[in-house]
Amino acid sequence: MQKNQGNTMNIKEELIEKWKKEGIVKDERLVNAFRKIKRENFILKDNLSRAYSDYPLPILGGQTISQPTTIITMIEALELKETDKVLEIGAGSGYNAALIASVCTKGIVYSTEIVEELVAFAKKNLKKEKITNVEVIHTDGSFGLREKSPFDKIISTCACPEIPEPWLDQLKSNGIIVAPVGPVHAQEMIQLRKIKGKIEMKTLGNFMFVPLKGRYGYE
Ligand code: SAH
Repeated sequence: MQKNQGNTMNIKEELIEKWKKEGIVKDERLVNAFRKIKRENFILKDNLSRAYSDYPLPILGGQTISQPTTIITMIEALELKETDKVLEIGAGSGYNAALIASVCTKGIVYSTEIVEELVAFAKKNLKKEKITNVEVIHTDGSFGLREKSPFDKIISTCACPEIPEPWLDQLKSNGIIVAPVGPVHAQEMIQLRKIKGKIEMKTLGNFMFVPLKGRYGYE
């Protein structure tokens, strides 16, 4: 094994150990997806040495790839099943979608992205990892994606002033939405569940994300 490969594995295992200790991750399939997918394939060359640093990194178009701990917290909260059909708002680098797709091996991820150059970036990165159950779609995901709805799970990787109405409409019964909600500079991570037509919400802590653009984004 090459020396730097060994280092990468150690850094990954250290993160996994920390997440398990703090109760951030319980889903072993997600842990294995994190082990398998190379974050190096989703970031810019200049940041390669920081691939597993636990903070956000810049990608293209002034956007960021979230820090590993945040991504894992969000995906864990989706309570994924193998067969889930998932909608993502904000494909960015495609990394988040890659992790979800690796857990939902019999399902599919529709990942929307409003910035055109990031659509191409995400597609290219997903190809490097040979992931075939993610479709990256250039659209304003604040409208959801009506033609592929309803969804088992919806995840937003950008901050929303509130959960857009179309996402609620396009969520199946017993479905879950995970999204950072609040003002532009400080959001609470919301885990929303639709149970018998009713909405239940839980908060998972404070975070800061890049803002949702488009119709249901910030003024
Ligand atoms: N999930 C990404 C993180 C991307 S950051 C990853 O793993 O790398 C959030 C992304 O949301 C940005 O790429 C931004 O362009 C995108 N975005 C913002 N508003 C959007 C909208 N209305 N529809 C779709 N994507 C949007």
